[in-house]
Amino acid sequence: MALVVMKFGGSSLADADKMKLVASRIIAKKNAGNKVVAVVSAPGDTTDELLEMADKITSNPPAREMDVLLATGEMISISLLAMAIDTMDEKSVSLTGPQAGILADINYTRARVKKVNPKKINSLLSKNNIVIVAGFQALNPKGDVTTLGRGGSDLTAVVLAAGLEADSCEIYSDVEGVYTTDPRLVKDAKKLEYISYDEMLEMAGSGAQILQSRSVEVAKKFGVEIHARSTFSENQGTIITSEEKIRRRKMEELFVSGITFDKNQVKFTIIDLPDIPGVAAKIFSSLAKIGINVDMIIQSAAVNKKNDISFTVSRKETKKTQIELDKIASEFKASQVVCDEHVAKISVVGIGMKSNAGVAGKMFEILHKKGINIEMISTSEIKISCIVDEMDMAKAVEELHKGFGLSKKK
Ligand code: ADP
Ligand code: ASP
Ligand code: MG
Repeated sequence: MALVVMKFGGSSLADADKMKLVASRIIAKKNAGNKVVAVVSAPGDTTDELLEMADKITSNPPAREMDVLLATGEMISISLLAMAIDTMDEKSVSLTGPQAGILADINYTRARVKKVNPKKINSLLSKNNIVIVAGFQALNPKGDVTTLGRGGSDLTAVVLAAGLEADSCEIYSDVEGVYTTDPRLVKDAKKLEYISYDEMLEMAGSGAQILQSRSVEVAKKFGVEIHARSTFSENQGTIITSEEKIRRRKMEELFVSGITFDKNQVKFTIIDLPDIPGVAAKIFSSLAKIGINVDMIIQSAAVNKKNDISFTVSRKETKKTQIELDKIASEFKASQVVCDEHVAKISVVGIGMKSNAGVAGKMFEILHKKGINIEMISTSEIKISCIVDEMDMAKAVEELHKGFGLSKKK
């Protein structure tokens, strides 16, 4: 009997009818002769609503209590889904992350999973139950509930698939798989049959919301093949697997696999910093100390022994970054700190880049032809990203998608 982990995201659980549909899909999978572990997210926008509720009480909530609050979202889904399955005369048991044996480190709000203790789940499965597990949550060494970062139910599905040695890991959402770009923005985006872990990691890390980056990292590490597919159709979705397996299946290798965008960044510039050793070290180590991740960085050439440094951070860190930079600017007698909130990052991702020069040139040429100004550039082995004005974002994505030949053939 095969063991299948099925994960359903919040958009698949947003109301009672959707919950019932999810229940029937789980039961169908069991009736097809499988053992089923279902991982669920909080219904609809519950997690965002919980964050807003906390924000009305305090702008600085204790992290432990934040996790207690956020964990309640997924508990709504597990209990309601178990009730829906019960109405369909099937046996299921709901478990919180801690009950399911998911053990994490001590970091609240972005814990890392350390181990899965599969005893309880295995015992329930052996008694013919469907097991429903609350995604996004785990037990930490202090015995507290903790959460795994936004989109963390994907990670729960992957760690359970690895820990239970499942035969398949299916991640269901409101789209049919991984597309060449977000199908909500570009109507003729194409569903990919396969995508490598590395490309998926770069796409997830640069804005494609469909899977949490960390879940892809862990899937790669443990060789968990993910099937990303839709709750609302029976169609085959996208297989996320190793580059070697894709080669063996002789899939045509795309030059570029996808275009992503991210509006969740802001750009800071510190103007007229002294051109002396240690300035960059001071800025970025101070930001790191207060937990701020910096993404793209550029430093201008020095003029009159002064230069400017620009970089991007996540939008939610704007206030914290501004306060820190004001202190650093006054220490170094810089003339100004400027924050531009109207930027977007667009990226082109593809393993084909490793063996094909000229992707960057082509990207810049496509943007230039449409009169889109590039404010910052960064590259990795299989990704090129540019910061542009947010007003140009949709146009840039559409043109790059077309320009790299990713649109559906008419
Ligand atoms: P869930 O609620 O199931 O966790 P998410 O909202 O986290 O689902 O992710 C699914 C969404 O990801 C889709 O609705 C789609 O708009 C968005 N998305 C962004 N980029 C892509 C892409 N390249 N392929 C597919 N979906 C994408
Ligand atoms: N509910 C959590 C979130 O919104 C986890 C998840 O959906 O995967 O981030
Ligand atoms: Mg998600």
